[in-house]
Amino acid sequence: MLHQQIDQKISEKEAWALRRQLGIPNNKRLWVLACMDERLPIEKALGIGEGDAHIFRNAGGLVTDDAIRSAMLTTQFFGTKEIIVINHTECGMMTASGDFLTEILHNQGIDVDQVSVDPALPELKLPKGVFSKWIKTFTDVDEICIQQVKLLRNSALIPQDVVIHGYIWEVESMSLRRPYKRLSDQVNTASAMKTKTTKHTKPILEIGSLIE
Ligand SMILES: [Zn+2]
Repeated sequence: MLHQQIDQKISEKEAWALRRQLGIPNNKRLWVLACMDERLPIEKALGIGEGDAHIFRNAGGLVTDDAIRSAMLTTQFFGTKEIIVINHTECGMMTASGDFLTEILHNQGIDVDQVSVDPALPELKLPKGVFSKWIKTFTDVDEICIQQVKLLRNSALIPQDVVIHGYIWEVESMSLRRPYKRLSDQVNTASAMKTKTTKHTKPILEIGSLIE
């Protein structure tokens, strides 16, 4: 009967719209912290779809006060059990130092020691001279990824049973890898492939034992 199909669709729509009121977590119970870069398609990178995760993006994919605020809310109150951090190669946050960017703002007449970093919370002020650190530029994407996982792991606001991992999205290959695990480093030179140069080297496959 048609009314059954209609009622089914209405129920599905209600369950989707009222998820928070009904205490339904996102499908994968997942919170993602990632860079805002347009070359990083989160759903495609992780193989997830609509409704699967809470996604937080900022410049660099870095643990900031608002990232902690969102991570705390999703893990403490919205049923999230896993966190994935995604940083990426050729990130804009590696193209200039915080001091350099601060100098440009200063030259535009902006007093970075006086600006409000959260206009809705004027009580939140940066101490003098901290602005360039607050921008959080970095020099090594693998290192920064590992650091973000540690920062989240050590946050008192995130439960200890939440599983946290970090990955690098390579914009050049459009694929994920683990920090410091570049496949390209293992295939481009003979030394990287640990090429054998003596006759007495063990064969790659242990076929000798089969002949005996
Ligand atoms: Zn980036």
